Amino acid sequence: MSSITVSLPDGSERELPAGSTTLDLAASIGSGLKKAAVAATVNGTDTDLTAELGDGDSVAIITNNTDEGRHVLRHSTAHVLAQAVTRLYPGAKFSIGPAIENGFYYDFDLPDGQTFSEEDLGKIEAEMKSIVKENQPFVRTEHTMADAKEIFADQPYKVEIIERVESAAGDVLDAGEVSADGVISAYRNTDEFIDMCVGPHVPSTGKLGFFKLQKVAGAHWRGNESGKMLQRLYGTAWESKQALLEHLHQLEEAGKRDHRKLATELDLLSFPSELGGGLAVWHPKGAIVRKLMEDYSRLRHEHGGYEFVYTPHLAKSNVFETSGHLAWYEDGMYPPMEMDNGTYYMKPMNCPIHCLIYRSRQRSYRELPLRLFELGNVYRYERAGTLHGLLRIRGFTQDDSHIFVTKDQLADEIADLLDFVLSVLRAFGFDDFTFNLSTKDPDKFVGSNEIWEEATEALREALDRHGLKYAVKDGDAAFYGPKIDIDVRDAIGRSWQLSTIQADFQLPERFDLEYVGTDNERHRPIMLHRALFGSIERFFGVLVEHYAGAFPTWLSPIQVRVLPVAQAHEAHAAEVAARLEAAGVRVDVANADVGLGKRIRAAKLDKLPYTLVVGEDDVASGAVGVNRRSDLVPEGDTDVERDVPLLTFIERFRAEVDQAQAAAINA
Ligand SMILES: [Zn+2]
Ligand SMILES: [Zn+2]
Repeated sequence: MSSITVSLPDGSERELPAGSTTLDLAASIGSGLKKAAVAATVNGTDTDLTAELGDGDSVAIITNNTDEGRHVLRHSTAHVLAQAVTRLYPGAKFSIGPAIENGFYYDFDLPDGQTFSEEDLGKIEAEMKSIVKENQPFVRTEHTMADAKEIFADQPYKVEIIERVESAAGDVLDAGEVSADGVISAYRNTDEFIDMCVGPHVPSTGKLGFFKLQKVAGAHWRGNESGKMLQRLYGTAWESKQALLEHLHQLEEAGKRDHRKLATELDLLSFPSELGGGLAVWHPKGAIVRKLMEDYSRLRHEHGGYEFVYTPHLAKSNVFETSGHLAWYEDGMYPPMEMDNGTYYMKPMNCPIHCLIYRSRQRSYRELPLRLFELGNVYRYERAGTLHGLLRIRGFTQDDSHIFVTKDQLADEIADLLDFVLSVLRAFGFDDFTFNLSTKDPDKFVGSNEIWEEATEALREALDRHGLKYAVKDGDAAFYGPKIDIDVRDAIGRSWQLSTIQADFQLPERFDLEYVGTDNERHRPIMLHRALFGSIERFFGVLVEHYAGAFPTWLSPIQVRVLPVAQAHEAHAAEVAARLEAAGVRVDVANADVGLGKRIRAAKLDKLPYTLVVGEDDVASGAVGVNRRSDLVPEGDTDVERDVPLLTFIERFRAEVDQAQAAAINA
């Protein structure tokens, strides 16, 4: 056959000379595509661009600006890293080097107990650059296990992986290195470097280059604490210089916005080591913001037709046996407490206890939808190594709702819920959302196909009715029901998963929940779980990072600081503060113990919305000098205004805050 025909994802077909590769195919479509191509999916399997195509193949070209494409770039860059390290540290052993989110890492065992330091990164990076410049091809070869052990004879970690796979003890980690079919594939760059790998890889190192090594860390071999301590190098890699610079900029911004750092600087909260990991204490300033969030949440739920409930922090084991948490979720729970001949657990979720409230008496269809709401405290066991400030914590408060509906009410209730959730998120300054709809895993689900279809349709319809774009994650739902996850994008473009609307067919079954219908028969309600902030703690952490600690005026712990120019004006400053306080402003005074300039700078660091300066003239006229935080200054306006009558300031301030609060309520 002198020519072959392949099909493309859009259904079109292309004829190519026999022996063509995907790279040839890309070139025949356009030089831009050839340049951007990094790998391909042929008949559903990821392969190298250099692999020969067959007649009838269906081919999707993977380009460098997609998640899949970046994965190939990052993994290929990891190979280059290992090659550079073996050049610079002869005798270095390398273990595994996968692509990870935004980058890659590689673990090394250096000769004579050498270690990397941050200073070595530049030198290694330079060596990587020269390998890129040499444009070495990545050549795939396939070997039997025995041959592979010979090829990697001086790489004990690779041999161990081969042996593990050989003895069928291989795990997910090994799967990235070796495919299960008994053939060991390897990628060779020149005679100097070969790595065991399932691929695919870019055709040559010249396709790489926009990377940066970021840090050195210790890592145990196979993540096992008894395993040898290896040296891990982390890096990031992108498809273009611009994408790399954007990512590095975002990292830098994220560092400045780190909520743990800002929480200390702004005196919002802390994690005293005496308390143990993952447990926060809220200081007065953080508590003000938290209380505002909670007040707001309560008000919205009151208006939204929710009924408030309270449940205890711990419960007897039988509740969690009934709910299934002990069977499915015990690893995520705090260890049991024995007392009164019973076993108690801190509750990891509020749902089972809300089910007990539902079940406390007979329910009629007239009561549905029944919307129970609680700011409920839960405790979950997270491994110490995974704790991360407020974002991953062991004790937290959920703004948790469980809504019990009839099948007929499901679609309307979900549509309303979606409105409610988006409105609350908007009130806190988020307006860029991503929606994911998770559907049934055909191998793992409870409930009938019919009810799954109806609930999934209801979720889909709610999204469609709002005209929202969403991604469908087929088979991604938990076994007990489909759900919508809502991610928000923050001020520096990071995405956070916050809210969830989850249908549940299982708990009503397990708790035997019923209602009496119009037909006088007993029916099973459907339960909806809905966390909006997710947890108050995590949401607060995200807010701190979103605003970089500069909360909007209505949420600011201190809204106004009064600065007397000199000691002679302190009495007047106190009077100004008293009048502001009487007008409902959260205000403090920084007296003239240090110079004015220093106090103005401190107010900036405290990210206060307003700083009022009062001097000699102001005492006489009853005016103040107003300094606004830069984000509050309208374009073209100046951030300092002198001789503003105090009453005028108070009026303006109240108008701003009242308007913001009203907007939040009606968001
Ligand atoms: Zn590889
Ligand atoms: Zn729940």
